[in-house]
Amino acid sequence: MKSLRIHASTEYEVQVGCGLLAQLGGLARSVNAGTRALIVTEPVVRTLYADRAAEQLAQAGYRVQTVTVPSGECAKTAEVWLSVIHCLAEHSFSRADLIVAVGGGTVSDLAGFCAACYLRGIDWLAVPTTLLAAVDASVGGKTGIDLPQGKNLIGTFYPPRMILCDPDTLNTLPQSVLSDGLAEVIKYGMIADAELLTLLHNDLMPQMEEIVCRCIAIKRDLVEQDERDNGIRRLLNFGHTVGHAIEVCSAYRISHGKAVAIGMAAMTKLSEHCGFCTDGIYQELYDLLTDCGLPTALPFSAKELWQAALADKKRQEDTICLVLPVRRGQCLIRPFSTEDFRSMLEICETL
Ligand code: NAD
Repeated sequence: MKSLRIHASTEYEVQVGCGLLAQLGGLARSVNAGTRALIVTEPVVRTLYADRAAEQLAQAGYRVQTVTVPSGECAKTAEVWLSVIHCLAEHSFSRADLIVAVGGGTVSDLAGFCAACYLRGIDWLAVPTTLLAAVDASVGGKTGIDLPQGKNLIGTFYPPRMILCDPDTLNTLPQSVLSDGLAEVIKYGMIADAELLTLLHNDLMPQMEEIVCRCIAIKRDLVEQDERDNGIRRLLNFGHTVGHAIEVCSAYRISHGKAVAIGMAAMTKLSEHCGFCTDGIYQELYDLLTDCGLPTALPFSAKELWQAALADKKRQEDTICLVLPVRRGQCLIRPFSTEDFRSMLEICETL
């Protein structure tokens, strides 16, 4: 088992280890003394892992309720958020009690936001069961839901009390969901750790603990410097401005990981075209994304993506910050006017 400590506005631990789910009760007790626990999960994960999680919490003395929200991005709506809040109130959860998110990034974004809002904030734990949630969504304290106008438009910075990642739970992931997580792993490799990219050429499962820990360590270092995402943390947005626009344009039929993969490919192509990065990086990234079962071609026109990107919360008035690769393991953050961004998307279309 490995453990990493994140020192941000609050301090919390990330535990990574095979078999950790069986220790959930004791670990929850090490950070929370409440009497009730609400597990937030979704249908697939409920039968696979959340019922076991409920037993563990009950053995540790919690009165456990489970709420099952829809699978996927449709869990991140105001209606679902309110239904979870109602569930907490109906079961008289107090400020001392606990929410436990067992699932992928959609579940942790939603559950964390419920924890942030109910009684002005109660404890929550993240038990990520997708690679994407393990390496990214559960770490760093961003919680939130979507609006019809755009993704993650309501939310808070509200870190969990602990993250408990059991890589054994990743064994049941369908290939396509595993690929979504690999998109974020590739992102970490491109922004900060070129060696991580080489690990992806080998058999993944035996290396999962190491891959997860390397990614979390990168996110920890960025979050500790810039928790509120005003500076260096923006490196984590590599591929995300275009990625979020793709998710919105597709009405979330294209998953987050795949949209980010396409966004990273577009930014890298553009960076090479503009002379920001050394030649050949795009081809390397393209090969890696393709080997991992990820798409690279823009599925919408420059105009459609630009319009969707204008609703992105990272836009500031007429400026949008883009993350562009310089070389493997290094990216830069550059502000562009929204008009320049539109021209850049048009260039991407033709490359
Ligand atoms: P997801 O939560 O929709 O899960 C994907 C699918 O995996 C679901 O259909 C689920 O049923 C299935 N699943 C989950 N665990 C499983 C398991 N162990 N075995 C079998 N099936 C399993 O998607 P995701 O990719 O985990 O998360 C995407 C979300 O994360 C997006 O909403 C994105 O915006 C968010 N995100 C948030 C942050 C953040 O910092 N808060 C960072 C990155 C992404």
